[in-house]
Amino acid sequence: MKTPVSSPPPEPKIVRVALDVPLPRLFDYLCAEATAGDVGRLVRVPFGPRSRVGLIIEVITHSDQPADKLKAAEGILSEMPILPADWLALCEFTARYYQAPLGEVTAFALPPLLRRGKLPRRSTKAKPDPQVGAGDTATGIHGAARHADAGSRLCRAEEDPGTGSAICADSPPLPALHPHQQAAVEAILTRQAFDAFLLHGVTGSGKTEVYLRAIDAVLARGGQALLLVPEIALTPQLEERVGKRFPRAHIVTAHSGMTDAARGRAFLDALEGRADIVMGTRLSVFMPLPRLQLMIVDEEHDASFKQQDGIRYSARDLAIWRARQRDVPVVLGSATPSLETFHHAHSGRYRLLELPERAVAEAMPAVRCIDTRREKLQDGLSSAVLAAIERRLALGEQSLIFLNRRGYAPVLACSACGWISRCHRCAANLVVHLMDRRLRCHHCGLETGIPRACPDCGNIDLSPFGRGTQRLEAMLGERFPGARILRIDRDSANTPAKWAALLATIHAGEADILVGTQMLAKGHDFPRLTLVAAIGADAALFAADFRAPERLFAQLMQVGGRSGRAELPGEVLIQTEHPDHPLYRALVDHDYDRFARTLLGERESAGFPPFSHQALLRAEARDMAQSLAFLQQASDLAQSLLNEHVMLYDPVPMRMARLKSLERAQLLVESASRPALQAFLGRWLDTVYAMKLPAGLRWHIDVDPLEL
Ligand code: ADP
Ligand code: ZN
Ligand code: ZN
Repeated sequence: MKTPVSSPPPEPKIVRVALDVPLPRLFDYLCAEATAGDVGRLVRVPFGPRSRVGLIIEVITHSDQPADKLKAAEGILSEMPILPADWLALCEFTARYYQAPLGEVTAFALPPLLRRGKLPRRSTKAKPDPQVGAGDTATGIHGAARHADAGSRLCRAEEDPGTGSAICADSPPLPALHPHQQAAVEAILTRQAFDAFLLHGVTGSGKTEVYLRAIDAVLARGGQALLLVPEIALTPQLEERVGKRFPRAHIVTAHSGMTDAARGRAFLDALEGRADIVMGTRLSVFMPLPRLQLMIVDEEHDASFKQQDGIRYSARDLAIWRARQRDVPVVLGSATPSLETFHHAHSGRYRLLELPERAVAEAMPAVRCIDTRREKLQDGLSSAVLAAIERRLALGEQSLIFLNRRGYAPVLACSACGWISRCHRCAANLVVHLMDRRLRCHHCGLETGIPRACPDCGNIDLSPFGRGTQRLEAMLGERFPGARILRIDRDSANTPAKWAALLATIHAGEADILVGTQMLAKGHDFPRLTLVAAIGADAALFAADFRAPERLFAQLMQVGGRSGRAELPGEVLIQTEHPDHPLYRALVDHDYDRFARTLLGERESAGFPPFSHQALLRAEARDMAQSLAFLQQASDLAQSLLNEHVMLYDPVPMRMARLKSLERAQLLVESASRPALQAFLGRWLDTVYAMKLPAGLRWHIDVDPLEL
């Protein structure tokens, strides 16, 4: 064997690794065994005193670090799956757009087991996993189909011309699509390339049916579909419907309530192409899907698609980016689209698909405002609402009283000196929970007993002020002694099992009056529910947050849509002191478009999103001065980077200025141009990450914040 005498020394092999640390950079390690094919593999490396698992982003030969400073990697985890390039690109985009360290993004996007370099135990097929969370049942039930034969398993008993939809004959026979549904399905399926659609239709207009037909066609072509839903624990009915429709498809669900093992398996099923349908909450936007052909975001307006801590990403917006990346259609469905989406759909950026009527010949519920200005309310309820409840009781139908405030009363007050129960850790009141005789902060969880006397003046005559669901429940119990009253809120439904039991009680017709918060608004059909009465809604009309009216409309429309879904017509009563408010007028007329256009007009003249793009730098510290000083310093650093397209506001205390004993402030950045904002943020954050922080100060950046 010939040995070349003067061969150059072998180039060092260096892996560039994303690690879960709050630094916006990658870390280089020597790794002799690495090849270009190891990009996307997990690797164990020394970091500080211990070793960590990271993800190989690049294999290089020259590092910016001096070679003798580089540590050696401990080993590539070659038994672990490789994360594909498009998945890495999604993480890279997320990191760039939301200004988060790539290592934090990849760690977040991986399920917990894989993040630690471990593989989940394989489940035996078609056997329900007893450990999975309540929302995870579908994973166990559908285990059979492999993608290779997914298409052939769907028999072609009925073909919708033009859509290529293949429908299995042994499902109960499917209804013929209405013309608008048909048009929507065709629009989604014909091009087989990127397009963003808004599917706009009221509850019951047949949006889900459109999703199912589109998924069906995609499965028949051997593709995978991703269905994002706001909160899986709240949508068991949708899960069941998808499972029933595709009994032979392999459906996996993904949400944060699952066990690590179940989440790990779901991820691998998706990654390795076994899963046909992935259904889940916002984190499922990070599921790797090699055969992805369709993305659906149901209830796209829902705030839960935006993560409010850690990496503050919007799963809806990432879904759109990802659909473009993968060149597949993405469908955003809603009865009350977010103004951003509404604007894009009406300005031609997205394609608008409208379902103007309910799918089953059902009238929309009649919506009426009850003017409470000239009436003395009885325990907070108007005579019209009381009479309407009485009528339902006589007919054996259900009523829902919607009050978005849990607890007995929002505050305990002393009538003698004006003391009220405040949380000493937050800028918030302590809520009275009378049943367990506690005062509770709904923001930080602080709890105390109910004091016997006023802590300030000793007066023993303390009274709960205002009204929450518990108090309403108690009052209704006194007023309608024969009625079965059920309260549904985060207190009564604090576990999946309790929630399921409550739903079963409602469905079995074993409740006459439901008292509930927005928990009840989503995704549930209660066939015997014919009355929805909303009380206390006015509070949101004049809230300081510019998105509050949009949210209130969506909430009332959604909760109103719970009534009268079967053969019984529904009625919605809104108790208000502002019956002529445009929001309520639009609700009465079922005219979301009019309301949305009015709001968009206001947003445009105020220069608010979607006519501008925003980011917030927030800081929290022991005292407000520190938080504000940090933001001012960051603002000073920004001055040399600013241009005429980007506007920086002054640091100000947040509306809820104190939370968990920390004083919070924020700094708003705004631009009419998204690229200009992004370019600025990138350079600015580099300097902010390099700032020396006073002890105890923490900061984060929120791009496209939902709340100001
Ligand atoms: P949405 O998702 O907009 O609330 P769904 O798809 O759930 O609407 O449809 C509401 C109800 O109407 C469901 O019971 C569904 O089975 C039924 N449905 C949907 N499309 C049709 C159709 N074309 N013909 C008959 N019934 C339909
Ligand atoms: Zn007092
Ligand atoms: Zn608190």
